[in-house]
Amino acid sequence: MRMFEGKVGLVLGVANDRSIAWAISEALMAEGAELAFTHLPGESSERRVRRLVEACQPKLLMSCDVQQDRDLDGVFSQMAETYGTIDFVIHSIAFAPPQELRKPYVEMSREGWHLAMDISAYSLVAVSRRAAEIMPDGGSIVTISYYGGEKVFPGYNVMGVCKAALEHSVRYLAWDLGRKQIRVNAISAGPMRTLSSAGVSGFDEMREHAVRKSCLGRNVEFRELGKAGLYFLSDLSEGVTGEVLHVDCGYSVVGL
Ligand code: NAD
Repeated sequence: MRMFEGKVGLVLGVANDRSIAWAISEALMAEGAELAFTHLPGESSERRVRRLVEACQPKLLMSCDVQQDRDLDGVFSQMAETYGTIDFVIHSIAFAPPQELRKPYVEMSREGWHLAMDISAYSLVAVSRRAAEIMPDGGSIVTISYYGGEKVFPGYNVMGVCKAALEHSVRYLAWDLGRKQIRVNAISAGPMRTLSSAGVSGFDEMREHAVRKSCLGRNVEFRELGKAGLYFLSDLSEGVTGEVLHVDCGYSVVGL
């Protein structure tokens, strides 16, 4: 029997076939998981994500802007109506206005800061609260972070501050939801070429630096992030919550 046979999960954050959420989804589907997906509002996003996910014939593909409580309520009420209860959620979402990322952090506007924090950090709280209502027998929630939440990477700027908030939210959510046997963890991924990372200035240098510095002498691959997702979302990590797991070829343990 495959590891996720009979398990149901929600995936927020697939934009295309280079999305980290998609890498984890592929690993889950190979193990028999039933997945529902969201996409950003708008026809072109819907078309792009629909084309990608249609092979797995999801029962639900829902529009969702995580800044809108109405959208989130709609997603989780459709999950409840369709499945009753769910086993896991993947939260793989971040955004900061590109023009703000090009400026030094000290120049960051209040409006841009709030927007980035709302989408990239608060959304995990909003999602977890709603997910918990349909996880009566426990469950697992995983989000995606980056080492820039621990150390300064010039150019990563507000996104690093968002990741620090996201990682600490993981710990507080793990506490709040732990007695319900709902686990909350983060994967801190090495730098990957995706739609989001294209907006980070100096990103290619970050990847090159990671190759030179990491223990394994290379960047992490999408399929490796998929396997880390399987770990956190399955019983393999049964006793683990509030953790941030670096899946970065050992980049973050080297002090160069
Ligand atoms: P991606 O662009 O494929 O995924 C980002 C997703 O966020 C997209 O699906 C986008 O639609 C979604 N999103 C943005 N604003 C939203 C909103 N208001 N409502 C709902 N969804 C919204 O890029 P990715 O690199 O796969 O990013 C996924 C996560 O991984 C992000 O949290 C990112 O910070 C994190 N991460 C990325 C890297 C990297 O190098 N690419 C490294 C570590 C962590």
